[in-house]
Amino acid sequence: MTGPALLIVEDEGPSLRALTDYLAHRGYVAYEAATAQEAMRQWDAHRPDLVLLDLGLPDLDGVEIIRRIRREATTPIIILSAREDERDKIGGLEAGADDYLTKPFAMDELNARIRAVLRRAGGPDADSEGRLRLGPIELDAVKREVRVSGEQVRLTPREYELLKVMLSSQGRVLTKGRLLRAVWGLAYAEESTYLHVYVNRLRRKLSAAAPAASLEGLIETEPGIGYRIADHDSLSAMPPSGTEASR
Ligand code: CA
Repeated sequence: MTGPALLIVEDEGPSLRALTDYLAHRGYVAYEAATAQEAMRQWDAHRPDLVLLDLGLPDLDGVEIIRRIRREATTPIIILSAREDERDKIGGLEAGADDYLTKPFAMDELNARIRAVLRRAGGPDADSEGRLRLGPIELDAVKREVRVSGEQVRLTPREYELLKVMLSSQGRVLTKGRLLRAVWGLAYAEESTYLHVYVNRLRRKLSAAAPAASLEGLIETEPGIGYRIADHDSLSAMPPSGTEASR
């Protein structure tokens, strides 16, 4: 699986290239935008794991981008600001950005901030390393790896996102619209057939990775509404498949 996907929004060409080169070299997938308009297009197309955002853009205030992203998702945003943008920086943080770096910054510092923010992005259920666990399933939000009973599962980026959203909502019901908006974007909010296909594929892949693990009831369909995600207790209450007890 590829590393976390970042959207880098920066209108100064040399800075943008330096950031992209450095981060691609660190294993991240980097999408670029030099204007606010392009940033929103890339956001809609890729739903990245994290956004690095220069606030001073030629066509629109970067704070508007933060507001737009926050209406749709909790995706972490790190502001890259010039020293004279102090007020914008506060505005950006109040609009929902997660952290900021003042230019010029060291690339190692940037990488450390990215990793810290991604760890937190695992959600309230994630441990200090950014891992989400549910029964035998473990999702590592920093490495973007998924394991079932220690066996690695190869997921597509959308399947991974879907599982991440679900594991962050253990014991809760997620509506179809919420899942579609979070994983595919606003334009897909009505595409429930799409979601159904992906949920079934995810169920199959997770079960196939470790057939002995009990994943019955992991993702329950709530007809007309969406899906109910198991929590640790409801999942471990299921008898493991393939044992004497289930024959
Ligand atoms: Ca700028």
